[in-house]
Amino acid sequence: MCRALSGVDSRFPIPHFRFPTLIYLEPRLSILSRPAFAEPSHLPVNWIGESTDGERLAEFAGRLCYMSQRNPASRTTREYLENIKRQGHGSVLEHANYSVLIEGVSRSLTHELVRHRAGWAYSQLSQRYVDESVADFVMPPAIIGDDALETAWRTQVESAQRSYVTLVEELMQRYAWVADKVHRRKMAREAARAVLPNATETKIVATANIRAWRTMLELRSSEGAEMEIRRFALTALRLLQAEAPAMFSDFEIYTAEDRREAARLGFHKI
Ligand SMILES: Cc1cc2nc3c(=O)[nH]c(=O)nc-3n(C[C@H](O)[C@H](O)[C@H](O)COP(=O)(O)OP(=O)(O)OC[C@H]3O[C@@H](n4cnc5c(N)ncnc54)[C@H](O)[C@@H]3O)c2cc1C
Repeated sequence: MCRALSGVDSRFPIPHFRFPTLIYLEPRLSILSRPAFAEPSHLPVNWIGESTDGERLAEFAGRLCYMSQRNPASRTTREYLENIKRQGHGSVLEHANYSVLIEGVSRSLTHELVRHRAGWAYSQLSQRYVDESVADFVMPPAIIGDDALETAWRTQVESAQRSYVTLVEELMQRYAWVADKVHRRKMAREAARAVLPNATETKIVATANIRAWRTMLELRSSEGAEMEIRRFALTALRLLQAEAPAMFSDFEIYTAEDRREAARLGFHKI
């Protein structure tokens, strides 16, 4: 969900300012890729029950360890993967990777997200190359719904964006002697971005295997996590639960004492 930013002060004409700027009130996530399992004809598995390709890939890898493709215990894929989690055999889950396009999140959120290293790959919008005079912003969840706080926050955001635009223009003039215009723009934008707030909206592609997603979601959907990344983690959890239910079936979403959603899980850091 987005809102238009209102109340730009007409005393400051800003030629490149896009109005209205969008205010994100929640993240936007899109699945970019999911596993496509190709079963080898010489090692067929006796599959039982419903499953997605990501789940089958993990089951196939797990069964290879004991050459149990015949499925002697007659387990459904979901029962089999539940047992994998119970046994802490988490490396099997590393075969299934999911890529997600993450938009409508702040730079402070991605600063926290990219701390998750093992099993992760990231590609993020560059503030050195991209013109942030048309940037959008993400309102912190704690501010949403309080008119006075929203107004105070908007005023600061607008002022920061105006400063950014002015700085870029002045830096372009200051470095007019730099012949390469792309390089000159980069010099201007990389310096001017210093005045942009943590709330500046960014976009990032994140790819991780299921084991890595689980570890990140455990930490970031818990009550101790910062509110925006916690909200993001719950959105990601729901998305991945639809993609590979068996991999996330032990996560339970509940309403915490602070009246916000959080999640806890059955099998810690497998
Ligand atoms: C509520 C909360 C508050 C936080 N506050 C702060 C803060 O104030 N300041 C701050 O700097 N950070 C903070 N962090 C970030 C935190 O310290 C971690 O950087 C982040 O959660 C990523 O966790 P990780 O290292 O386990 O993840 P990953 O890098 O994804 O690693 C996953 C797991 O792999 C193993 N692993 C990864 N790398 C290594 C390695 N080099 N050696 C051995 N084992 C490894 C570990 O078991 C690790 O848990 C906070 C995190 C949370 C959830």
